[in-house]
Amino acid sequence: MKKIIVIGGGVVGISAALALQADGHRVTVLEPDRIGQGASWASCGCIAIGEIVPLSQPGLLWKVPGLLMDPEAPLALRPASALRMLPWFLRFVANATDPKMRAIATDLAQLTFRATADFKSQMSEYGIKDMLVERPIIKLFEDDSDKASMGAAFNLARDLGCTIEDIPGAEAHDIDPAIAPDFQYASVLRDWSFVADSVRLVSDLHRAFLARGGEVVASDARGFERTDGLLQSVRLQNGDLLEAEEFVLAAGIGSKALAAEIGVKLPMEGLMGYWTGLPEPGVDLKHTVFYPSGGFGITPHENALAIAGTIEFASLSSKPNWRRADVLVERARRVLPRLNTENGERRAGRRPFMPDTRPVIGRPRSLGNVVIATGHGQLGLTLGATTGRVVADIIANRRTDTNLTPYGPDRF
Ligand SMILES: Cc1cc2nc3c(=O)[nH]c(=O)nc-3n(C[C@H](O)[C@H](O)[C@H](O)COP(=O)(O)OP(=O)(O)OC[C@H]3O[C@@H](n4cnc5c(N)ncnc54)[C@H](O)[C@@H]3O)c2cc1C
Repeated sequence: MKKIIVIGGGVVGISAALALQADGHRVTVLEPDRIGQGASWASCGCIAIGEIVPLSQPGLLWKVPGLLMDPEAPLALRPASALRMLPWFLRFVANATDPKMRAIATDLAQLTFRATADFKSQMSEYGIKDMLVERPIIKLFEDDSDKASMGAAFNLARDLGCTIEDIPGAEAHDIDPAIAPDFQYASVLRDWSFVADSVRLVSDLHRAFLARGGEVVASDARGFERTDGLLQSVRLQNGDLLEAEEFVLAAGIGSKALAAEIGVKLPMEGLMGYWTGLPEPGVDLKHTVFYPSGGFGITPHENALAIAGTIEFASLSSKPNWRRADVLVERARRVLPRLNTENGERRAGRRPFMPDTRPVIGRPRSLGNVVIATGHGQLGLTLGATTGRVVADIIANRRTDTNLTPYGPDRF
């Protein structure tokens, strides 16, 4: 049994803490904020098994002027952030080739294809089976060119084993009558599912962790003490040093600065996304619906209908542009004509994103008692349970079928 500190109490950190606890370790989680208020707070809530094809696709470079021009577009680059984000963006664009896109999708598939099983066993272990809603998601397309824009991604995802069924748009309305009847095309993504509430997911997991003897310390990590290739302790907000034998860095976008402290350079940015929860939507939607040309999804959570998505390349110091959240709500009426948009609660979140879209899960070469688990981009909720297990396997030196080389922290 080891004393282990997990830094960060988002979905990834708490999943790692639970998996380590299940292995018999004594685990402390450091979390300065209210539980589950990191990126998970603004999530669409999808267990997005087929979301494996990166955004860095051939032709991306030609889209850059457009990204800069329209601050309300589904994919946008803040002009004020452009220079600061340039090094990250150049690496991102360097991945926009066919062979790299396939390699990234293959590496993400390796993780996401085991995610539902890992998630289900996590839910059943902690008594929250009602969290997973096992219904496919539906993507909606206006016309041929709208559908064609997803063609390459769908073909690659199918090739790698995803189940995507194309249907006429009117059938989407038959499956879920809340959806407008006049979309020309739709696709049903059978491997996906969604959670009843992303915030409850994280807080239920925390409760389970505490009930089994786990400790949560309300502080952020401010630095580290180290000797001979090992971390000794982490420095808290009040200056105290907390010692442990193993450390897990799972602080979402906050992991970038912490990793730099221990000499690991992670080229990570926090790609902004927006969420609005409608408490009285006035429609009875049963499935998660994605409207790719608007860049958002709509998920029927237990307490609100969540309209969430878009990607904004905005540097870490920039503030949310709430107009982007409002635009999503306005566009959602195209999908759900009877939608009541009153009294919405808005949130913004930063997806911890690596330029090669692969998460970081592994030990840095320079430190023998640290595991980094971050950079999950748009898949953090999907991969929380899986990452937790992988982190526990690494610390236990257990062999697994998952090849961890593509996710190594020293790969850049
Ligand atoms: C609009 C939107 C929609 C999304 N939809 C989906 C989806 O449908 N499916 C999906 O799988 N993913 C989705 N995501 C992505 C997903 O939300 C993230 O990948 C995931 O939440 C990342 O989890 P995390 O635990 O790594 O980070 P976070 O949830 O950000 O948690 C990190 C935690 O670390 C803490 N922390 C930070 N710095 C420190 C420090 N120095 N010391 C201690 N603690 C620290 C923070 O307070 C925070 O609580 C979406 C994201 C957005 C923004």
